[in-house]
Amino acid sequence: MSVAPSSLTSPTHSPSSERNPFGACGCGRSFSGLSSTRHTTTALVRDIPGLTRQEYLAASMAGLELMGRCPDCSDFPVADFVDWLLAVAGDLPEGTVVERHAFDLNVRWSLGSGA
Ligand SMILES: [Zn+2]
Repeated sequence: MSVAPSSLTSPTHSPSSERNPFGACGCGRSFSGLSSTRHTTTALVRDIPGLTRQEYLAASMAGLELMGRCPDCSDFPVADFVDWLLAVAGDLPEGTVVERHAFDLNVRWSLGSGA
């Protein structure tokens, strides 16, 4: 998944943001751009050939370390985010734009295949 061609995203999360995705910290409704170190409410599903789960997990951990994690959500395992995101986005076609509310991933629109 990506917010820009070279920017992976990873969700941040906590029990409190799961209960209230529209709460103050925003972690339950956003993705983190691992290259941009900015947060976004939408992400583009991309198929990145050769990228493994372990590489995505390492990039997610490095990106979150670089940008600093939300103090309310810093104890939640990054691997759990990565596995959840890969599981729910893995069946979506490339070019799908998604948004999230806690652990619900919703399709906002599709750019079509090959985006
Ligand atoms: Zn948070």
